[in-house]
Amino acid sequence: MRIGVLALQGDVSEHVLALETAVKSLDIQGDVVRVRRKSELETVSALLMPGGESTTIAKQLDRFGLRQPILDFAASGKPIMGTCAGTILLSSEILDRRGQEVKPLGLMDMSVRRNAFGRQAESFEKPLKIEGLEGDFHGIFIRAPRIARIGNSVKSLAMLDGEHIMVIQGNILALTFHPELVPDHRIHAMFLKMLRP
Ligand code: GLN
Repeated sequence: MRIGVLALQGDVSEHVLALETAVKSLDIQGDVVRVRRKSELETVSALLMPGGESTTIAKQLDRFGLRQPILDFAASGKPIMGTCAGTILLSSEILDRRGQEVKPLGLMDMSVRRNAFGRQAESFEKPLKIEGLEGDFHGIFIRAPRIARIGNSVKSLAMLDGEHIMVIQGNILALTFHPELVPDHRIHAMFLKMLRP
């Protein structure tokens, strides 16, 4: 299998490495490639959308003509995972005080608030309990969005202080923290398992 990492902006190499490690840990055959073009998207069976700056990534999606191809990719049932800015792009609504700077893809029925933790607490780390994982997962939140609302078809996989931080809707997985920044690749492995029947 071939896994793609959307490589328009953000922490792309960290996700490539994390996915490569997860592929090895599951003892499966697979390679990980960077995706910038529609032709590259067509070669992968799962896509990871990294964190970074959602305003920039949204602009690049349009510039590279990737918006519709990603919507078609999702509609064909192939798994997509978004982290942080990637999650913002997967959402159906962005509650942004500064207006609609970012046009989301609308692949998951949820509303998010960008940079919702404010300036003083721009970044923080917390141990997390995640459904399906034993023990804690070390969560790193960097200017993270908040998931303000989820639709009925969205299932929460982890919460922190009463808020959803990891959610799944069919073939779409979204988290507000950065699993690529810790040497624990169980969430990337969980994503790869979405490829199995
Ligand atoms: N604050 C960024 C945004 O709004 C997201 C930050 C991140 O991906 N770490 O796009």
